[in-house]
Amino acid sequence: AKERGRNNYCFFSEDMNQSAQEVLQLQLELRQAIGAGQLALHYQPKVELKSGRITGAEALLRWEHASRGFIAPDIFIPLAERSGLIIELGDWVLKEAVRQCRRWHLMGFDWLTMAINVSSIQFKRGHFELAVMEALDNASLEGRFLELELTESLLLDVQPALQQSLASIQDKGVGLSIDDFGTGYSNLGYLKRFRVSVLKIDKSFVTNLAGNSQNEAIVQAIIQMAQSLKIGTVAEGVEDGQTAAKLIDMGCEVGQGYHWSKPLPSADFLRLIKPTA
Ligand code: C2E
Ligand code: CA
Ligand code: CA
Ligand code: CA
Repeated sequence: AKERGRNNYCFFSEDMNQSAQEVLQLQLELRQAIGAGQLALHYQPKVELKSGRITGAEALLRWEHASRGFIAPDIFIPLAERSGLIIELGDWVLKEAVRQCRRWHLMGFDWLTMAINVSSIQFKRGHFELAVMEALDNASLEGRFLELELTESLLLDVQPALQQSLASIQDKGVGLSIDDFGTGYSNLGYLKRFRVSVLKIDKSFVTNLAGNSQNEAIVQAIIQMAQSLKIGTVAEGVEDGQTAAKLIDMGCEVGQGYHWSKPLPSADFLRLIKPTA
């Protein structure tokens, strides 16, 4: 029994060590990735459904690892959150995205907005308000061109001081989008507490929308509620023209998804934008 117990323990602990070591190693490498220029932002267009016009982009973080190749944000963002590295990482994303948006404006595409994803840890620690103001100031970008994508769960336990800080950011014109809307909580009280500009309807409801009566009902309900509250709507995960057409019928304003484009490096993103005549 003792033998078996030890073996079990060894087996268990070896596994644990391996994954813990893996995690530590990745965290170490992530720390170096910023300086090594291995991080990049890709930009996915947001498209006004009726006109087909590109209104802006969402910046999505990419890690091009030297030996492991491309690592998806769903894997390294949680690692960065657990190690606290997300603050440094998020700060880099904020600065880079704002700078990029300003560059587009200087090239003549001066209507484009930039949306960034903000992790709850990044938002709750590390003087987020100051970081946003500084990024905007340094790039000479007006606040109304920046949009913060926050999740419902983040907003649910925001303390009054942070709520005030968020309000100050919004006073500068910065927009507030609720990411993955519909997947979080049924308590919608936060919609009264915060000045929400956009609901981003989660892609789990949007992809394969046409023909799925449950998804249709949910998406229609979200759009109707947003309209009555005078909040904008963005559908994410639009993968085909049929879905885009359906969304127009339903009164959705903006779409995002592979139907138009996957997230792209800045140079490729620029090729999608038609210059205004
Ligand atoms: P998200 O904010 O919900 O981003 C949408 C995800 O859906 C992106 O995955 C995007 O590439 C993908 N997507 C876009 N169009 C389609 C489509 O038509 N169909 C499908 N199936 N997927 C589509 P990505 O880039 O892998 O990012 C995953 C998540 O990682 C993001 O989800 C976001 O939560 C997080 N993330 C990405 N960049 C950042 C960042 O800079 N900071 C933070 N805190 N989180 C980030
Ligand atoms: Ca997002
Ligand atoms: Ca989303
Ligand atoms: Ca998501």
